[in-house]
Amino acid sequence: MIKRNACLSNLTAGYLFPEIGRRRREFAAAHPEARIISLGIGNTTEPLTPHIDAGLVEGARRLGTLEGYSGYGDEQGLTDLRERIAAVFYDGKMAADEVFVSDGAKCDIGRLQLLFGGNVEVAVQDPSYPVYVDGSVLIGAGGAWQGTGYAGIRYLPCTAANDYFPDLAQLPTDGLFYFCSPNNPTGAVASRAQLTALVEAARQRGTVIVFDAAYAEYIRDPALPKSIFEIPGSRECAIEVNSFSKPIGFTGVRLGWTVVPKELKYASGETVWADWNRICTTVFNGASNVAQYGGLASLEPAGLKEMRELTDFYLGNAALIRAALGELGISCIGGDNAPYLWAHFPGQASWDVFARILEKCHVVTTPGSGFGPAGEGFIRFSAFGHRADVEEACRRLVERL
Ligand SMILES: *Cc1c(COP(=O)(O)O)cnc(C)c1O
Repeated sequence: MIKRNACLSNLTAGYLFPEIGRRRREFAAAHPEARIISLGIGNTTEPLTPHIDAGLVEGARRLGTLEGYSGYGDEQGLTDLRERIAAVFYDGKMAADEVFVSDGAKCDIGRLQLLFGGNVEVAVQDPSYPVYVDGSVLIGAGGAWQGTGYAGIRYLPCTAANDYFPDLAQLPTDGLFYFCSPNNPTGAVASRAQLTALVEAARQRGTVIVFDAAYAEYIRDPALPKSIFEIPGSRECAIEVNSFSKPIGFTGVRLGWTVVPKELKYASGETVWADWNRICTTVFNGASNVAQYGGLASLEPAGLKEMRELTDFYLGNAALIRAALGELGISCIGGDNAPYLWAHFPGQASWDVFARILEKCHVVTTPGSGFGPAGEGFIRFSAFGHRADVEEACRRLVERL
């Protein structure tokens, strides 16, 4: 019989969200009267906004006409969209042909390691978004599971003790470092000084930074960088992945992008840009044209206004959760420039706190330990939810926890 890919055998079962679902169902079965509210999942809940929705509808309608029909497009995305992304999000600092439009940031992260193969040393923030680690394991760079982590992955703790910013002395030499800001799960946002130090350290060590900016549009503090490419020297050491999912609710529509600067080179002197172009044209056939029309609408003035309003709405939810946790005397970070709050329950196991909140308040959260060993003792609250649900969840937290 055919043999299983050994990398797949190394991958431990996707444990976190299935386990949350299992516990939720078990609780619901035992308490059929309970109205459970989820503040657990990083999925958007509010409908598409009118101008952006109209862009999608018009895009789809155009495809039904002889003049407007298009089949396969450029794998790298519509030229108009690449130009708009470069202008709106990068202030013209990145060229349109350095922007590669995709079907989402997660999908790009999954394809990215084709660039570096299975022999590269990988480091992640601990806690972190799971796909950085799982993608590394799939390509053979993760090694075997060893109880709390993979043998081949460096987990750089990001905790209150270090202001949620890793010890840069631990960056791998000539390796890969995944960095997410605003962070999922912690909601922490790296300052300009921190990112400057990161870029400096990466350049000294030959480390490539994969900067995940999926939540950049939630940043409200003008002093905080929204892109790694605001930092001098980053063009020689960084790739940025980004997404329309969280700023305009395209989680289901599917649209993202990756920026690869032409200065980024391998030890051999070849550009990473040329290889990424090759990968995009080889194993990816371009993002949906309808989704791209929607993306274009979101970058027009009316669309940008809606993007701002939608992210303001979720930040409003975050402010309510933050106030509720404050009333309870629970210390937390995040929620100001990110749709997540990271609440500390010192000395308690994340899963125990998760169970207590579910039992007492009928509210589903996410146990911090599911994002990496340094997440133990924390709970992630997500601000994605309908306002009435968030208000009700906050009332229950304050009254019953
Ligand atoms: C939600 C999320 C993404 C988005 O991925 P898409 O595939 O574009 O929907 C990427 N990175 C992080 C950290 C996320 O939380």
